[in-house]
Amino acid sequence: MEISIEKLQELIDGSDNIVFFGGAGVSTESGIKDFRSVDGLYHMKFKYPPETMLSHSFYVRHKDEFFDFYKDKLLECTCGENPAKPNAAHLALAKLEEKGKLKAVITQNIDGLHQAAGSKNVLELHGSVLRNYCEDCGKSFEASYLYKAAGVPKCDKCGGDIKPDVVLYEEGLDNSIMSRSVQAIQEADMLIIGGTSLVVYPAAGLIDYYRGSKLVLINFDATARDSMADYSIHGKIGEIFSQLKI
Ligand code: NAD
Ligand code: ZN
Repeated sequence: MEISIEKLQELIDGSDNIVFFGGAGVSTESGIKDFRSVDGLYHMKFKYPPETMLSHSFYVRHKDEFFDFYKDKLLECTCGENPAKPNAAHLALAKLEEKGKLKAVITQNIDGLHQAAGSKNVLELHGSVLRNYCEDCGKSFEASYLYKAAGVPKCDKCGGDIKPDVVLYEEGLDNSIMSRSVQAIQEADMLIIGGTSLVVYPAAGLIDYYRGSKLVLINFDATARDSMADYSIHGKIGEIFSQLKI
């Protein structure tokens, strides 16, 4: 059922164990492109499809090209001249947590913007561009070190290759983050899903663990799972959250 902002407000006011599950669409209003919108990365022309370039086998076989793409398309918005900032959706979710109403943000995003907004319990299913480790000695590096490196970033201690702590296609998700996410969703009285096309598995399958009757979908386009939602609002998530009184 399509609902109004007033109805969304009422549902939030009546809940005290809210879980938010989001994707790339949560950060588009911060200037970070998603994958599947019309101006997303999938609609740009690259030598290989983004899914190939962000796969484990491509990383292993074509590290130079992987880092060209990674630095330009994924690190630019964090480390470039105009770093992305949290938008109204990130800020409202942090405020809901501070008020004790929201228990967890589960995100497929790797941009760290929920934490930048002040959210504490953020379950990052696909890792974060902000964490990077040497594949040989494990030393950790900031994203700016990788961004500034020419070619494949190398460890300044042992010379090993540095890999971002980002889950690539063909790689498994962290078991402990998955089980904490399942538990949060099972315990939630309200589940808000926003800015995700719900096509990337196993992340998208998480919503099947919700047992309540307040599943709200906030998305710009229709998603693969619209029919599962109790309520939906189609629009820009930052604009929608900015109209709520929290
Ligand atoms: P997706 O690109 O498949 O889908 C994004 C969805 O969000 C689309 O359905 C689109 O209609 C919607 N959307 C876009 N802007 C919106 C807005 N302002 N308000 C409401 N909805 C909006 O993204 P996904 O489902 O997250 O899956 C893609 C994968 O891409 C994820 O695994 C994620 O790790 C990765 N990714 C992350 C980032 C990031 O960290 N910011 C950016 C791009 C891709
Ligand atoms: Zn090293």
